[in-house]
Amino acid sequence: MDRATLIHPTLPGHRTDRTLLVSGSGSRVRDAEGREYLDASAVLGVTQVGHGRAELARAAAEQMTRLEYFHTWGPLGNDRAVELAGRLATLAPDPLSRVYFTSGGAEGNEIALRMARLYHHRRGEPERTVVLSRRTAYHGIGYGSGGVSGFPVYHEGFGPSLPDVHFLTPPHPYRRDLYSGADVTEFCLAELRDTIERVGPERVAAMIGEPVMGGCGAVVPPADYWPRVAELLRSYGILLISDEVVTAYGRTGHWFAAQHFGVVPDIMVTAKGLTSGYIPHGAVLTGERVAEVVTGDQGFPVGYTYTGHPTACAVALANLDIIEREGLLANAAGIGEYLGGRLAELTELPVVGEVRRLGLMMAVELTSDRATRRPLPNGTGAVADALREQAAVILRTNPYALVINPPLVLSREEADELVDGLRSVLVRTGPDGHVR
Ligand code: PLP
Repeated sequence: MDRATLIHPTLPGHRTDRTLLVSGSGSRVRDAEGREYLDASAVLGVTQVGHGRAELARAAAEQMTRLEYFHTWGPLGNDRAVELAGRLATLAPDPLSRVYFTSGGAEGNEIALRMARLYHHRRGEPERTVVLSRRTAYHGIGYGSGGVSGFPVYHEGFGPSLPDVHFLTPPHPYRRDLYSGADVTEFCLAELRDTIERVGPERVAAMIGEPVMGGCGAVVPPADYWPRVAELLRSYGILLISDEVVTAYGRTGHWFAAQHFGVVPDIMVTAKGLTSGYIPHGAVLTGERVAEVVTGDQGFPVGYTYTGHPTACAVALANLDIIEREGLLANAAGIGEYLGGRLAELTELPVVGEVRRLGLMMAVELTSDRATRRPLPNGTGAVADALREQAAVILRTNPYALVINPPLVLSREEADELVDGLRSVLVRTGPDGHVR
């Protein structure tokens, strides 16, 4: 039935194998045949509080039996949306106190891009339409969010893409070949300044970026990258949009990665961990400076059907309660430290190029040659398949790295199990990427 009916993202048509997950608890999930797996991916970097939380189901049921749904269009609203907006405003760094709800990450980035362009338009600079992004950025697959995503696959065959987007070099220290021997931050800053000057500062609306890039595997920039980028953008009147869809709500050991890097963006996009994926939801946060302009006398003219969905808001509130009550930010930092140390042991294996991490956002970069840092010629898919089939560990991959984003409730024993499983497969992985 699956093969006959379901269109899976990113699944080559010739593959007939399927693994259907049917239940879960904590950091574990079970398939239809009763096999248990360690979920080292938190599904898609989403399930902060782990699987199977009855408390979240109860929050949804209580809300659905009282008022299942009402929007926040015009003067109408609902109590849950107001409550959650207030809660997020207290958690987020100042001055991010205004909140717009979505049903996911791409939707949030669409709103952020519209807010940025509208902000300049209404302030009398309608020619500010250019958006700066980075190659290998991932911001979702909407027209705008896909248009600022920096992998060719999101553009080829779907054209024409969103106009007025310029892609910059990502701050990826492992890929030293990108910087011709220069310091990573110096190189990126010079390129940013040159690009703005070439395009014309009066034409640039915003720069969008993930604090830690997820698509190419937990790429953590040098500590001075974001502060200096933010300062340069500010000097040109360009807005900074931070895509915290993965990093927000504890993944990095903080509520928001902004707090780790000490940089507060003009617009911050969040989703995933807001509800731990129990129900789709997202939130875009901005400060009064932007909100005042984009709401203004004419109001903010665009809304989603499900904006401010009260059941999603109720689940988010209960999810934030769990994160607070169980100290999951501290656990992400502590277990992240422990798991990071254990993963670092794997760098003795010839196929491991680097281990990167911030909190519980991690990646193991694989290589066919440590000297040149060449990626595995056939990608990392065979390693992920072997991990799932032979070590009962589920994680995500990209062409270069194994991506590890476990639930924030991961225990030390589970961290050990994950590393042992990884080692058992990586010791048998050849430079061609095949597992013996
Ligand atoms: N932004 C980032 C950084 C993401 O990682 C993702 C999804 O993985 C998105 C945006 C898109 O979110 P969604 O799939 O909920 O639309």
